[in-house]
Amino acid sequence: MCADFLELGRQIETMEAKGIDYLHIDKMDGHYVPNFTLGPDFCRRLTEKTSISLDIHLMVEGPDAYIPVFAAFGRPALYIHPETSYHPLRSLELMRSCGARPGIALYPALSVAAVDPLLSQVDLVCVMTVNPGYAGQRLIPWTIDKIRELSAIKNRKGLGFEIEVDGNVSWQNIPRLIEAGARVLVAGSSSLFEEGNQLEANIDRLYGLIGREPG
Ligand code: MG
Repeated sequence: MCADFLELGRQIETMEAKGIDYLHIDKMDGHYVPNFTLGPDFCRRLTEKTSISLDIHLMVEGPDAYIPVFAAFGRPALYIHPETSYHPLRSLELMRSCGARPGIALYPALSVAAVDPLLSQVDLVCVMTVNPGYAGQRLIPWTIDKIRELSAIKNRKGLGFEIEVDGNVSWQNIPRLIEAGARVLVAGSSSLFEEGNQLEANIDRLYGLIGREPG
């Protein structure tokens, strides 16, 4: 949702050439969040265009109805907000049975303790540092403590999930997000897609910050 849609084809080629791991796609239904974004046809077009894996963030009510639809787009990572499902464990099983990598996303006011029973069943946990719904918001500082808490549980229990962070992943915030334990960064309007700068240069800057070689 942060990319320039009128330049999207070219931007995807740049991201592919630079070795970006995932395209993070925000699905908003106008109910769970007060905004709308792109649907299944958009994901289908992306998977025709690029081999970069999709990382699909379902900010929707009743996610079970959409899991099989989105799981079909190249075995993506799929995230539900667990409070949108009466039976989140069943939703995660559905994701795996459809060939997706199951994930959960935590809105800022949802505690890590509330999702503890799900942590052994997921491949990814996405910590939202802003309230879901819009780009361009400021990071809520104590969400970084949740990343730290998840990281400690993961190490203590020997669990395999990866920690993703979504929301205000800015140049200034990236070092402390990494330090807290985040390993997948959803870079949007405050870094990769910031106005006035070139995507290619921004990817190089990002890689420089996280100590990764381009390509
Ligand atoms: Mg997102």
